[in-house]
Amino acid sequence: MLLQGCTTEYNLATRREESLFYGTEKEVKIGEAIAPKIEEEYAILSDIDVNERVETILARIAAVCDRKDLVYFIKVLDDDPINAVSLPGGYVYVFRGLIEKVGSDDELAGVIAHEVGHITARHGVKRMQAAYAAMVLQVASIPAGGRVASGVNLAINSMFMEYSQEDEFEADRLAVKYLKKAGYDPRAMVTFFEKLKVEKDKEPLRQYSYWRTHPYLSQRIAVVNQEVSGKLEFRDYLNLTVNN
Ligand SMILES: [Zn+2]
Repeated sequence: MLLQGCTTEYNLATRREESLFYGTEKEVKIGEAIAPKIEEEYAILSDIDVNERVETILARIAAVCDRKDLVYFIKVLDDDPINAVSLPGGYVYVFRGLIEKVGSDDELAGVIAHEVGHITARHGVKRMQAAYAAMVLQVASIPAGGRVASGVNLAINSMFMEYSQEDEFEADRLAVKYLKKAGYDPRAMVTFFEKLKVEKDKEPLRQYSYWRTHPYLSQRIAVVNQEVSGKLEFRDYLNLTVNN
């Protein structure tokens, strides 16, 4: 990965002027470089119906999202984790384990819209900038001749790192906006979060679990309820003020 200068772009999703090491063109290149690695690591589900289902949902969300400068892709990874992840530049991956848990297209659309929100708000790029900075420090600390993880490996690991609470809330608010515009029911995000909470209590923390990469479920329920209804319920207020 190349680090050349810094560009500033106005981000429609976050409504902020952002300083980026990676402009859109480089962001797309990062996605293009990492996507094949992900697809080597995991088997891609070939079921035509499932693929058509996720592609239809993604197309509806991409059509209304804040970044039209990207081409969006979605693939189903044929593995058990209940999770979905995304890469900078427009790549969304949903695990088969998650598809098996969603009860409706609205719930699945909620998950996909959240990932699109991470992409439109450039959260992955931000995380990679942080990972890159960490790598530079790591490299600097290793004596000459020592082994160094490659940038791509670091980037893959960074894809499964948890997002900050702020980024999770922002992706959720964007997801509610996109779902409404695309004609899906944003309240399905909450019903799916409730399911995830039940699953979380059933099994120990796994590296690639949804609640690991996307933490703060109770608080996120509060944020989504507030975004959908325009008001904050007392019950949700309590969730926002305690940690879980
Ligand atoms: Zn997330």
